[in-house]
Amino acid sequence: MDGQFAFSEEQPPDAAVEDVWRVLAVDDDGDFQRATASVLRDIELLGGRVELIQAFSCSEAEKLLASYKDIALVMFDVFMETEEAGLRLIKYLREEIDNSHTRVVLLTGDPDVPPAPDVMRDYDINDYWAKSELNAERLLTVLAAAVRGYAQLRAVAKARRGLQRIVESSNTLFTCKSLPELAGRILTEIAQLISQPVDALVCMRREDTTVSSPIEADVVGASGRFGRYINTTLTALDDMSVVKTLEQCFATQLTQRLPNGAVMFFPRLQAGADYACYIRCERGLDDTELELLNVFSTSISRGLFNVAMFSRLENMAYQDDLLKIPNRNALIRTLDVTLHSPAKAKQSLVLIDIDNFSGANTAFGTGYGDFILGLVAKKLRDAFNSEVFVARVRDDVFAILGPQKRVCAAEIVALFRKPKRPYELGQVNSLSSVTMHLDDFNGSARVALQDALLTLKQAKHLGQDQHSVYDPGLQSAHAEAYRLLLALRDAVEAGQISVALQPQIDMRSGRVTGVEALARWRKADGSMVAPLSFIPLAEATGYILPLGDLLMRLSLRAAKKLADAGYPHIRVAVNVSAPQLLQHDFIERFSSHLLMTGVLPTQVEVEITESVAMRSFDTVCEKLSALRAMGVEVAIDDFGTGFSSLSYLQLLPADRLKIDRSFVMEIGATNDQQMIAEAVIQIASRVGMQVIAEGVETQQQADWMLRHSCWHAQGYLFAKPMECSELLTWLGALEKRSA
Ligand code: C2E
Ligand code: CA
Ligand code: CA
Repeated sequence: MDGQFAFSEEQPPDAAVEDVWRVLAVDDDGDFQRATASVLRDIELLGGRVELIQAFSCSEAEKLLASYKDIALVMFDVFMETEEAGLRLIKYLREEIDNSHTRVVLLTGDPDVPPAPDVMRDYDINDYWAKSELNAERLLTVLAAAVRGYAQLRAVAKARRGLQRIVESSNTLFTCKSLPELAGRILTEIAQLISQPVDALVCMRREDTTVSSPIEADVVGASGRFGRYINTTLTALDDMSVVKTLEQCFATQLTQRLPNGAVMFFPRLQAGADYACYIRCERGLDDTELELLNVFSTSISRGLFNVAMFSRLENMAYQDDLLKIPNRNALIRTLDVTLHSPAKAKQSLVLIDIDNFSGANTAFGTGYGDFILGLVAKKLRDAFNSEVFVARVRDDVFAILGPQKRVCAAEIVALFRKPKRPYELGQVNSLSSVTMHLDDFNGSARVALQDALLTLKQAKHLGQDQHSVYDPGLQSAHAEAYRLLLALRDAVEAGQISVALQPQIDMRSGRVTGVEALARWRKADGSMVAPLSFIPLAEATGYILPLGDLLMRLSLRAAKKLADAGYPHIRVAVNVSAPQLLQHDFIERFSSHLLMTGVLPTQVEVEITESVAMRSFDTVCEKLSALRAMGVEVAIDDFGTGFSSLSYLQLLPADRLKIDRSFVMEIGATNDQQMIAEAVIQIASRVGMQVIAEGVETQQQADWMLRHSCWHAQGYLFAKPMECSELLTWLGALEKRSA
């Protein structure tokens, strides 16, 4: 903006906007009133029509002054009733109704008696005439001077009020953080400034259009009859003359007065982007109003600049680079606000995932993938108004957040369904979705998104075109497990996983025959996570394969340390889960770990649970036989809990049975349960296997085992699981005692 309004040709620059100049003639002299009326009939002055109001007494005049606030001139005869009556009227005007704009001309029938000078000054009386001298021509001159004075005074007052308003509103403009908010406020302020309702538009020229290319602009603010065009483009306006005016404004970069309003230009240097503001009102703008708009435009520019810079900084963190729509950060921020708002109950989050996206991406290249993503983003954006928040979460996952009645998975999916040509290239044929009713969720935005993504992932396991709804009961457990799994992966990376070794004792001699290697997870804060909370999870998710590999390496390293420390006869038992054992290359892996750690197979035992052994019996037997052929021993863990048939058990290639802790615990408690322990021991001897009792905690249990020919035991009575170095110390102490 160059600081001045340029004027369009249709209207002379000094056009006044007042339609009417009101003149109040106060006189009981009927002849004078008649003469005045005939002079002022059909008179126009400074673009306005003169309207005469007549009063025949001071009291009548007071009433008229009170009801018409915009009387330009009052003419009255000082000596109309009494001298005081005239003075009272003027006092009423200036002091009681506080009108300082209306001009006052005194008339008198007697030219030799002028009013006192101090009265003229104190009450701002502009002129004094003897009625006899006031012919038609003079009356018009007097009137013209008065009207001009009145107009000027009003303009000054208006300018003062306007400037005050500008100062106040500038502060609020500077606090706006978003363009729609700012644009709305600008238009409200403009309407206030020119004291009339306006139909107005604020348009922002697209950044990527150059000076020479056709003008593309977005409507960022709109009011009055243009209100419905907000968030559309300039070309969407139905009024071609408005479009042209705005285009011209962008092209000429000039601010212009229009017959019924103005169009203002804000250049990018001051406003951060090129903006044009179109204002249309009921009447033309006067010079004061244009001047005020001029002054205000500085504040507008600064407000626009602030918003543009703020949003640019924000875009860097909250916008998806490729699709130019909000990203995951933005979603979390908005979701957070929604979750904390009272409207939460009626809001939904829908995530959609394009089926087979990665396949298409691989097959047709990332360019094609980007194209598809752009298509989806556009379709989603076009389908919703600003009430609904659309974001790209990652890859081919999009989020739609908004009122439940608007955000419906089925309808979103339908947007992409084109039954006619289902396999057209460049089209999304199948989507999966998850819907989360925010009312069902109590947690942070981050966890909400995480849970929704997990539900989506689970749904996608079932195939394509899957649509699920977040179930708070189910998901909180799932989400908990999921978090634990993520934490486990981090723990592996951070080296928080180790093995502890628990001695196995030959109770006859008191010698240590073996140790069981047990997984340990020590968190950064020193607290432990029990294997029973993470091993089953790892088994269920397949993560046990890499984790089991690690545990095996750690166990074998411990075996090597034991051998090196002079205990090559202490066997190390490694727990192996079903998915591990059933890997096609388990034996090869196991051998290569043995080789790498330099541990003899004969120093190692593999523990598998009874239930695993009985599942996929043939395969398991094959693997176990291969292990035993290498010299590795095999123990059947948790024995007694799997109700195996004796015939199968006889076929199982194993060296020992571990009596489950639950049976050992019963010893010394009730007699019935001891029967099972007895039976287990008998079965073991029938099939020619050694037995070892797990979880022996008391001397009574140990004695019982010895009495029933179970010579081997493991349990807290003898030792808890220990770190390798601790075990070596413990072994040293044990040797000293028995020596
Ligand atoms: P499990 O193989 O039956 O291991 C024996 C469990 O009993 C261990 O619990 C051990 O600390 C505990 N225990 C030993 N003596 C006593 C005792 O006298 N009293 C009591 N109350 N408990 C005793 P932990 O270490 O918590 O392991 C639990 C389970 O986690 C193991 O049961 C095993 O199924 C699994 N696990 C542990 N480490 C591994 C591993 O490296 N690989 C695999 N696949 N599973 C493992
Ligand atoms: Ca075990
Ligand atoms: Ca066990």
